[in-house]
Amino acid sequence: MLSECRLCGSDDLTLWMREGRNRDLNYYRCGNCTLWNYDLDCGLDQTQYTETYVSPSDTGHRYNQDNLRSWAFLKQHLGEPGTLLDIGCGSGGLLHPAREAGWQVRGMELSEQTANNIREDQDLEVIVSNFLEYDNPNGDRYDVVVLRHVLEHLPDSKLAMTKIGGLLVDGGLALLEFPNTASVSYGIKRHLKNRGLKNKKYAQDWRPGHCNEFCRESFNYLLEQTGFELAVWQTYSNKDFANAFYRVVPVASKARALVRKKPR
Ligand SMILES: [Zn+2]
Repeated sequence: MLSECRLCGSDDLTLWMREGRNRDLNYYRCGNCTLWNYDLDCGLDQTQYTETYVSPSDTGHRYNQDNLRSWAFLKQHLGEPGTLLDIGCGSGGLLHPAREAGWQVRGMELSEQTANNIREDQDLEVIVSNFLEYDNPNGDRYDVVVLRHVLEHLPDSKLAMTKIGGLLVDGGLALLEFPNTASVSYGIKRHLKNRGLKNKKYAQDWRPGHCNEFCRESFNYLLEQTGFELAVWQTYSNKDFANAFYRVVPVASKARALVRKKPR
Protein backbone atom coordinates (compact mmCIF):
# COMPACT_ATOMS: atom_id res chain seq x y z
CA MET A 1 0.00 0.00 0.00
CA LEU A 2 1.22 3.45 -0.93
CA SER A 3 1.92 5.69 2.06
CA GLU A 4 2.59 9.06 0.45
CA CYS A 5 2.09 10.89 -2.85
CA ARG A 6 5.14 10.64 -5.11
CA LEU A 7 4.67 14.24 -6.26
CA CYS A 8 3.90 16.28 -3.13
CA GLY A 9 4.58 13.85 -0.27
CA SER A 10 1.09 14.18 1.22
CA ASP A 11 -0.42 11.15 2.97
CA ASP A 12 -3.92 12.24 1.97
CA LEU A 13 -4.43 9.36 -0.48
CA THR A 14 -7.71 7.80 -1.58
CA LEU A 15 -7.94 4.42 -3.30
CA TRP A 16 -9.19 5.72 -6.65
CA MET A 17 -9.10 3.09 -9.38
CA ARG A 18 -8.60 -0.67 -9.32
CA GLU A 19 -6.99 -1.95 -12.51
CA GLY A 20 -6.26 -5.34 -14.00
CA ARG A 21 -8.11 -8.60 -14.36
CA ASN A 22 -8.48 -9.11 -10.60
CA ARG A 23 -8.87 -5.43 -9.72
CA ASP A 24 -5.85 -5.65 -7.48
CA LEU A 25 -3.64 -3.06 -9.23
CA ASN A 26 -4.30 0.13 -7.34
CA TYR A 27 -4.22 3.81 -8.21
CA TYR A 28 -4.45 6.34 -5.38
CA ARG A 29 -5.54 9.93 -5.87
CA CYS A 30 -3.75 12.59 -3.83
CA GLY A 31 -6.11 14.97 -2.03
CA ASN A 32 -3.46 17.68 -1.99
CA CYS A 33 -2.01 17.84 -5.54
CA THR A 34 -4.60 15.54 -7.30
CA LEU A 35 -1.98 13.25 -8.90
CA TRP A 36 -3.11 9.69 -9.60
CA ASN A 37 -0.33 7.54 -8.09
CA TYR A 38 -0.10 3.94 -9.21
CA ASP A 39 1.14 1.65 -6.42
CA LEU A 40 4.46 0.48 -7.89
CA ASP A 41 4.48 -2.52 -5.55
CA CYS A 42 1.76 -3.98 -7.81
CA GLY A 43 4.28 -4.13 -10.69
CA LEU A 44 4.85 -1.93 -13.75
CA ASP A 45 5.40 -3.04 -17.35
CA GLN A 46 7.06 -0.69 -19.85
CA THR A 47 7.81 -3.38 -22.44
CA GLN A 48 4.38 -3.18 -24.12
CA TYR A 49 5.15 0.02 -26.04
CA THR A 50 7.72 -1.09 -28.62
CA GLU A 51 7.02 0.54 -31.94
CA THR A 52 7.98 -0.08 -35.55
CA TYR A 53 9.67 2.51 -37.71
CA VAL A 54 7.37 4.70 -39.82
CA SER A 55 9.16 7.07 -42.17
CA PRO A 56 7.97 10.71 -41.86
CA SER A 57 7.70 10.76 -45.66
CA ASP A 58 4.59 8.56 -45.23
CA THR A 59 2.46 11.59 -44.31
CA GLY A 60 -0.84 9.69 -44.50
CA HIS A 61 0.15 7.25 -41.74
CA ARG A 62 -1.81 7.73 -38.53
CA TYR A 63 1.38 7.93 -36.49
CA ASN A 64 2.62 10.83 -38.62
CA GLN A 65 -0.75 12.54 -38.48
CA ASP A 66 -0.32 12.68 -34.68
CA ASN A 67 3.17 14.11 -35.09
CA LEU A 68 1.97 16.73 -37.55
CA ARG A 69 -0.78 17.79 -35.11
CA SER A 70 1.84 18.23 -32.38
CA TRP A 71 4.00 20.30 -34.70
CA ALA A 72 1.06 22.40 -35.89
CA PHE A 73 0.27 23.26 -32.27
CA LEU A 74 3.88 23.95 -31.34
CA LYS A 75 4.85 26.11 -34.32
CA GLN A 76 2.08 28.64 -33.77
CA HIS A 77 3.70 29.54 -30.42
CA LEU A 78 7.30 29.73 -31.64
CA GLY A 79 9.32 32.69 -32.85
CA GLU A 80 12.29 32.55 -35.18
CA PRO A 81 13.76 29.06 -35.75
CA GLY A 82 16.31 27.93 -33.16
CA THR A 83 17.29 24.61 -31.62
CA LEU A 84 14.88 21.79 -30.73
CA LEU A 85 15.34 18.46 -28.93
CA ASP A 86 12.63 15.77 -29.10
CA ILE A 87 13.07 13.28 -26.24
CA GLY A 88 11.61 9.91 -27.20
CA CYS A 89 11.45 11.06 -30.82
CA GLY A 90 10.11 7.72 -32.12
CA SER A 91 10.59 7.69 -35.89
CA GLY A 92 11.43 11.39 -36.03
CA GLY A 93 7.94 12.39 -37.13
CA LEU A 94 8.09 15.78 -35.37
CA LEU A 95 11.77 16.44 -36.07
CA HIS A 96 11.10 16.15 -39.78
CA PRO A 97 8.61 19.05 -40.18
CA ALA A 98 10.57 21.12 -37.64
CA ARG A 99 13.71 20.82 -39.73
CA GLU A 100 11.74 21.70 -42.85
CA ALA A 101 10.67 24.89 -41.05
CA GLY A 102 14.30 25.84 -40.45
CA TRP A 103 14.90 24.48 -36.95
CA GLN A 104 18.14 22.82 -35.92
CA VAL A 105 16.80 19.55 -34.57
CA ARG A 106 18.08 16.61 -32.56
CA GLY A 107 16.29 13.55 -31.22
CA MET A 108 16.82 11.26 -28.24
CA GLU A 109 15.88 7.58 -28.19
CA LEU A 110 16.46 4.64 -25.88
CA SER A 111 17.05 2.21 -28.70
CA GLU A 112 20.16 2.15 -30.90
CA GLN A 113 18.14 0.43 -33.62
CA THR A 114 15.53 3.22 -33.73
CA ALA A 115 18.28 5.85 -33.79
CA ASN A 116 19.99 4.07 -36.69
CA ASN A 117 16.73 3.88 -38.64
CA ILE A 118 16.25 7.64 -38.29
CA ARG A 119 19.85 8.43 -39.22
CA GLU A 120 19.72 6.26 -42.32
CA ASP A 121 16.30 7.38 -43.50
CA GLN A 122 16.52 11.07 -42.68
CA ASP A 123 20.12 11.92 -41.85
CA LEU A 124 19.01 13.35 -38.51
CA GLU A 125 21.11 13.51 -35.37
CA VAL A 126 19.86 11.19 -32.61
CA ILE A 127 21.32 10.75 -29.12
CA VAL A 128 20.92 7.22 -27.75
CA SER A 129 20.21 7.56 -24.04
CA ASN A 130 17.73 7.27 -21.22
CA PHE A 131 17.06 10.97 -20.68
CA LEU A 132 16.86 10.62 -16.90
CA GLU A 133 20.47 9.41 -17.01
CA TYR A 134 21.68 11.74 -19.78
CA ASP A 135 24.43 14.01 -18.44
CA ASN A 136 24.61 16.38 -21.45
CA PRO A 137 28.41 16.11 -21.87
CA ASN A 138 28.73 19.20 -24.11
CA GLY A 139 26.46 21.37 -21.96
CA ASP A 140 24.04 21.94 -24.87
CA ARG A 141 21.03 24.19 -24.32
CA TYR A 142 17.92 24.15 -26.51
CA ASP A 143 15.23 26.72 -27.24
CA VAL A 144 12.58 23.99 -27.31
CA VAL A 145 12.41 20.53 -25.69
CA VAL A 146 9.62 18.07 -26.49
CA LEU A 147 8.47 15.14 -24.31
CA ARG A 148 5.36 13.35 -25.53
CA HIS A 149 3.66 10.43 -23.79
CA VAL A 150 6.65 9.75 -21.56
CA LEU A 151 5.94 11.70 -18.35
CA GLU A 152 3.18 9.33 -17.20
CA HIS A 153 5.59 6.39 -17.38
CA LEU A 154 8.16 7.89 -14.99
CA PRO A 155 7.85 7.47 -11.20
CA ASP A 156 9.95 10.60 -10.53
CA SER A 157 8.11 13.44 -12.29
CA LYS A 158 10.17 16.15 -10.62
CA LEU A 159 13.41 14.62 -11.83
CA ALA A 160 11.99 14.55 -15.38
CA MET A 161 11.11 18.26 -15.31
CA THR A 162 14.43 19.16 -13.67
CA LYS A 163 16.25 17.32 -16.46
CA ILE A 164 14.21 19.21 -19.08
CA GLY A 165 15.03 22.46 -17.29
CA GLY A 166 18.73 21.62 -17.51
CA LEU A 167 18.45 21.23 -21.27
CA LEU A 168 16.63 24.52 -21.87
CA VAL A 169 17.83 28.09 -22.18
CA ASP A 170 16.23 30.53 -19.71
CA GLY A 171 12.79 31.36 -21.06
CA GLY A 172 12.93 28.25 -23.26
CA LEU A 173 9.78 26.27 -24.02
CA ALA A 174 8.88 22.64 -23.46
CA LEU A 175 5.98 20.81 -25.08
CA LEU A 176 4.58 17.93 -23.05
CA GLU A 177 1.76 15.57 -23.97
CA PHE A 178 0.17 13.03 -21.64
CA PRO A 179 -3.24 11.58 -20.74
CA ASN A 180 -5.68 13.87 -18.94
CA THR A 181 -7.25 12.38 -15.81
CA ALA A 182 -9.84 15.18 -15.77
CA SER A 183 -11.27 13.86 -19.05
CA VAL A 184 -14.68 12.32 -19.62
CA SER A 185 -13.10 9.07 -20.79
CA TYR A 186 -10.98 8.71 -17.63
CA GLY A 187 -14.06 9.31 -15.51
CA ILE A 188 -15.94 6.57 -17.34
CA LYS A 189 -12.94 4.22 -17.29
CA ARG A 190 -12.60 4.62 -13.54
CA HIS A 191 -16.31 4.06 -12.98
CA LEU A 192 -16.31 0.85 -15.04
CA LYS A 193 -13.10 -0.57 -13.59
CA ASN A 194 -14.13 0.02 -10.01
CA ARG A 195 -17.26 -2.00 -10.73
CA GLY A 196 -15.39 -4.79 -12.50
CA LEU A 197 -17.05 -4.04 -15.84
CA LYS A 198 -13.96 -3.48 -17.96
CA ASN A 199 -11.36 -5.76 -16.43
CA LYS A 200 -11.84 -9.14 -18.09
CA LYS A 201 -9.96 -8.09 -21.23
CA TYR A 202 -6.69 -8.14 -19.29
CA ALA A 203 -4.45 -11.18 -18.98
CA GLN A 204 -3.70 -12.34 -15.44
CA ASP A 205 -0.15 -11.06 -15.62
CA TRP A 206 -0.89 -7.74 -17.37
CA ARG A 207 0.54 -4.71 -15.58
CA PRO A 208 0.04 -1.02 -16.44
CA GLY A 209 2.75 1.22 -17.89
CA HIS A 210 1.43 4.50 -16.48
CA CYS A 211 2.46 5.29 -12.92
CA ASN A 212 1.91 9.06 -12.48
CA GLU A 213 -1.26 10.37 -14.11
CA PHE A 214 -1.88 14.11 -14.38
CA CYS A 215 -4.59 16.69 -14.91
CA ARG A 216 -4.07 20.43 -15.26
CA GLU A 217 -4.02 20.97 -11.50
CA SER A 218 -1.43 18.32 -10.63
CA PHE A 219 0.67 19.31 -13.64
CA ASN A 220 0.65 22.93 -12.48
CA TYR A 221 1.83 21.77 -9.08
CA LEU A 222 4.73 19.94 -10.76
CA LEU A 223 5.65 23.08 -12.75
CA GLU A 224 5.69 25.26 -9.63
CA GLN A 225 8.04 22.82 -7.92
CA THR A 226 10.50 22.68 -10.79
CA GLY A 227 10.88 26.25 -12.06
CA PHE A 228 8.37 26.35 -14.91
CA GLU A 229 5.19 28.25 -15.72
CA LEU A 230 2.28 27.09 -17.85
CA ALA A 231 1.98 29.02 -21.12
CA VAL A 232 -0.73 27.07 -22.98
CA TRP A 233 -2.98 24.16 -21.94
CA GLN A 234 -5.11 22.29 -24.42
CA THR A 235 -6.82 18.91 -24.42
CA TYR A 236 -7.19 16.92 -27.62
CA SER A 237 -8.28 13.67 -29.19
CA ASN A 238 -7.32 11.99 -32.44
CA LYS A 239 -10.68 12.95 -33.92
CA ASP A 240 -10.28 16.29 -35.67
CA PHE A 241 -14.02 16.98 -35.73
CA ALA A 242 -14.15 16.74 -31.91
CA ASN A 243 -11.20 19.02 -31.25
CA ALA A 244 -13.11 22.22 -31.99
CA PHE A 245 -15.37 21.27 -29.08
CA TYR A 246 -12.44 20.38 -26.83
CA ARG A 247 -10.89 23.84 -27.43
CA VAL A 248 -13.90 25.23 -25.57
CA VAL A 249 -14.53 22.43 -23.06
CA PRO A 250 -11.16 20.92 -22.07
CA VAL A 251 -12.29 17.39 -21.23
CA ALA A 252 -10.54 15.35 -23.96
CA SER A 253 -8.55 12.27 -23.01
CA LYS A 254 -5.14 13.76 -23.79
CA ALA A 255 -3.46 16.99 -22.77
CA ARG A 256 -0.92 19.14 -24.51
CA ALA A 257 0.97 21.69 -22.44
CA LEU A 258 3.42 24.34 -23.50
CA VAL A 259 5.53 25.43 -20.53
CA ARG A 260 8.19 28.07 -20.08
CA LYS A 261 11.35 27.75 -18.02
CA LYS A 262 11.49 30.65 -15.58
CA PRO A 263 14.74 32.61 -15.49
CA ARG A 264 16.67 31.81 -12.33
ZN1 LIG B 1 0.20 14.83 -4.09
